[in-house]
Amino acid sequence: MEVLLARENGFCFGVKKAVELTEAAAESGKPVFNLGQVVHNPKISERLQARGVKVIKSVTDAKEGVIVIRAHGVPPETRAQIEAQGLECIDATCSLVLRAQRFTKQLADEGYTVIILGTVEHPEVIGLRGFAPNATVVETKDEWEKLPRMKRAGVASQSTQPPWAFKELVAHVSEIAQETKVFNTVCPVTVKRQHAASELAEQVNTIIVVGGKNSANTRELVNLARMQGRNAYHIESAEELRPEWLRGEARVGL
Ligand code: SF4
Repeated sequence: MEVLLARENGFCFGVKKAVELTEAAAESGKPVFNLGQVVHNPKISERLQARGVKVIKSVTDAKEGVIVIRAHGVPPETRAQIEAQGLECIDATCSLVLRAQRFTKQLADEGYTVIILGTVEHPEVIGLRGFAPNATVVETKDEWEKLPRMKRAGVASQSTQPPWAFKELVAHVSEIAQETKVFNTVCPVTVKRQHAASELAEQVNTIIVVGGKNSANTRELVNLARMQGRNAYHIESAEELRPEWLRGEARVGL
């Protein structure tokens, strides 16, 4: 059986940097904490754990040492809390997420009604809302069609949302708002990966997507392949592969 690899694969630069900064911090000998999993990938989490890095849910769980902020970023209050507790902070927020945070704040400061395309409980979205506390988060067409008419709407996105959804949301908001200001904060790295997954889906019937089960990026790649009518399976490790998924296939996408 032939295995075709997606043109774009592996971790993006934002996640790579966050993992590298965490590993470097672990070398320091100080207690090191990741505020939430640094990457939604169990293999990497195990590797970091083996180096003594602990994952915490709240800043108050760390009494001393270093807190590494992951690529998703945090709301400004969390950053302030780390400093108030006298903990060392390594900020591994991805540069593209920092840009999205800046734009979201700008929209709120300029008085726009901020609308964020994203998953409401996703850490990146929680971080973005820290910069625009009154923002409304929408993820599906059903949700954005319920938005009321408004005067001045400002639109931004969680980095891993699909570009087509952002385009549809912007088109809809432009119809219900008198003025619309848009910052396209969909991550270009994510867009490239989604294009690569679509290209791959054109060449095979079955695609295996490897990544953390709670990774928005990975889930979106699975969705895309399914939207193209392909069998798409989401696994975290090779042990989860089931022979029946591959039976009769001459070629499989990975
Ligand atoms: S914004 Fe893009 S490059 Fe940065 S961490 Fe997210 S997916 Fe990776």
